[in-house]
Amino acid sequence: MNIPCVSYGKIIDLSHPFDENMPSIDPMPRLDFYENTHSGLYNVETITYCPHVGTHMDAPSHVADGWGSIDSWPADILVGPAVVIQTGRPGKCEISASDITACEMENGFIEPGDAVLFHTRHSELWGFGRSAYVDDGYPCLSLDAADYLISRRVRYAAIDFFSPEPPDRSDIHRRLLGNGIPIVENVCNLEMIEGARCATIGTFPAVRGATGVWVRLLALV
Ligand SMILES: [Zn+2]
Repeated sequence: MNIPCVSYGKIIDLSHPFDENMPSIDPMPRLDFYENTHSGLYNVETITYCPHVGTHMDAPSHVADGWGSIDSWPADILVGPAVVIQTGRPGKCEISASDITACEMENGFIEPGDAVLFHTRHSELWGFGRSAYVDDGYPCLSLDAADYLISRRVRYAAIDFFSPEPPDRSDIHRRLLGNGIPIVENVCNLEMIEGARCATIGTFPAVRGATGVWVRLLALV
């Protein structure tokens, strides 16, 4: 593993806290706490969770049988340079390739190996329940936006909304994941990154066979 040497001034947490009330269409996590186990010496808990609830990363096997599971992504895939793309808006809208290139014209081009963090401010609706965050619509990527990310050879794509596409489609997922680009969903706090560039750091447990996994993603600015 090749960890780049990163200098930074501030660390920003891009992940929502995890609890049993996160907005999603998938089954909610369940946390059971056990106090004073092991002869009264320890407290423990069990967590039953769908990895696609909360801030998480998708594996290719999320959309196609036989594609790689989460343990097929390199452990350092979330570590390295990133570009913030300020486009879209909270609620239902589509982000196209021309929206991305307009941001590039203003802030510089996406380089191969950059992560792309889509900042639409949709994460502001996180605390307002499933209907505000999911059911009333959320930003989506267009197919040409996904193809543009592939053509720029980005390292991963992160979004401050629930999914890169409506729940009755999977072609954007298939396009990105099938071309080796992980999708990190439900990130937040992107407004705290000043400027269009930062680095990110984060990792995840290599859960064998999993279609997704919770991640704790940080921006270094
Ligand atoms: Zn997912």
